[in-house]
This record gives sequence, structure tokens and C-alpha cells, in this order.
Amino acid sequence: MNRRDFLKVGALTAAGIGGTIIFEGLRNSGAQAGVIKESNQALKAKHWGMVVDVDKFKSPEDIQRIAEACHKYHNVPDIDDPDNEIKWIWREDFEHTFTELDNPYLNDKIKEANFPVLCNHCENPVCVRVCPTQATFKRDDGIVAMDYHRCIGCRFCMTACPFGARSFNFVDPRSHIKNVNTEIPTRTQGVVEKCTFCVERLEKGLPPVCVEASNGGILFGDLNDPESDVRKILTGNFAIRRKEELGTGPSIYYVIRGGKDSA
Ligand code: SF4
Ligand code: SF4
Repeated sequence: MNRRDFLKVGALTAAGIGGTIIFEGLRNSGAQAGVIKESNQALKAKHWGMVVDVDKFKSPEDIQRIAEACHKYHNVPDIDDPDNEIKWIWREDFEHTFTELDNPYLNDKIKEANFPVLCNHCENPVCVRVCPTQATFKRDDGIVAMDYHRCIGCRFCMTACPFGARSFNFVDPRSHIKNVNTEIPTRTQGVVEKCTFCVERLEKGLPPVCVEASNGGILFGDLNDPESDVRKILTGNFAIRRKEELGTGPSIYYVIRGGKDSA
């Protein structure tokens, strides 16, 4: 989009004119938003999903390790200020992960277990619905992706996401990255960012960084394939998704074995 088109979109948005016109304008602009060129070795799926095997995360450090691996790989800035920090994957306790499950008799081991949380790559992502510029969009393989160049920093997506999965760059992130990974573009001040399900690694035939760093604690695969590891573990175990009642359809499942000794 040239500056004139951009201002037109802004004016239409401000005037409250329906998203269809804006979306059509962008669709017809010829821009290939966030399209990553496919190679032969690319991993493909009809619906990428994740299963977190909660038992495998014995301590907060187990989650810290995968968060550091993800953040380092993706040039996520390290900002030690809760108002400005950027998080793609982080640790929560049971109460904050499954806020709707109110069971006062739950055993302490589950209540205090460690849950890695991240963008759920929802089947019905509200963040996509509210974005006025299609900066965030859902791919055919289920990944909710972002084109940072289209993000105008309105933060509608952050307000809409019920999982707090998105962060806004209030400050220039580049000055808070110690060693830049040149394979991954850095973001700029004024844009939103979040977990990408490691699309750039899938393209190279590699699993997500957090999956690799989790020592079997996180499985990743095609939820549409009955033979995939994710489907097999979901068939044989009790698993829950976050805030299912909201209908966003998270693509991340948590296997909770629940026994006093196992949690
Ligand atoms: S978790 Fe939030 S940011 Fe991620 S797809 Fe769902 S609504 Fe969008
Ligand atoms: S899938 Fe990739 S981007 Fe998302 S939390 Fe895991 S390592 Fe980070």
C-alpha cells in the first residue's frame, strides 16, 4: 500500500465503515502478507496443534528454559519491566491458566503445577476478526500469523485476545536484544507481536524451538491426522484447553494426569 491508500484505510477505520471494504482493498493490493515461500522439506499439516504434557514440567526452571530458547531464537527483547515486557511463552500456575475451573478441593500438586502458556492459534481467533488491516490472519494450516509491516499499533487484537497472548512494543525492542539472530527479523516500536508456532522453522523441516527444548514435554503435530503423536496422546489421556467456553477453539491441549503423585 502506498501512503495514500494507507491513509484511506485509516480514515475508513476511524469512520467505522465495515471491515469488508478495507479487507477487500488489501486483498486486491497484490501484497503477499506474511507468505513464506515453501521449500521441499517444509513440514505441513491441515491443522497444526500442540499438546503440553504437564507432568513433564517439574519446576519453574523447566519452563524458563523453553521460554529462553524461544525468546533468544526469535529476538524477543528482554525488558525487565512488567508494563513493557514482551512475552511469547511463559509460565502460569493452574489458577491463572484455567481461570474458569473453580475446584476448591483440587490437590496442591495440580494447583501449583507449572503450565507453559502461549498463543493458542485458535480455530476462531477473535484477534483476527478485530484487526482492521489484516496484519494478523489465519493460515490454511491453522497458524494465526502476523505481518508486522501491516500492524498499525491499534492494539484491538490485544484487547480482544482472552489469553493475554500478545505483547505491544511500547519501546524500541532492538536495544533490548543482546545477540540478534539474523535469521529472524526484529520488530519495531509500535507493533504487536506473539508466538508464531515457529513458521520459519516448519518451512525448513524443523519443529518449533520450544518443542525441541522441552525434552518431550510438548508435542507438536497435525490435529487432523489420527496417526500423529498429538492425536495419539489426546486419544489416550485426559486433556483440557484454556477457556473452552469462549468458543475460540484453542489448538493447544494440556494433558493433566491429575494423580497426587503424578502432578
Ligand atoms: S490466543 Fe489470542 S492471539 Fe492467539 S489466536 Fe487466540 S485470540 Fe488470537
Ligand atoms: S512455537 Fe515457536 S514461537 Fe511459539 S512459543 Fe514455541 S518456540 Fe516460541
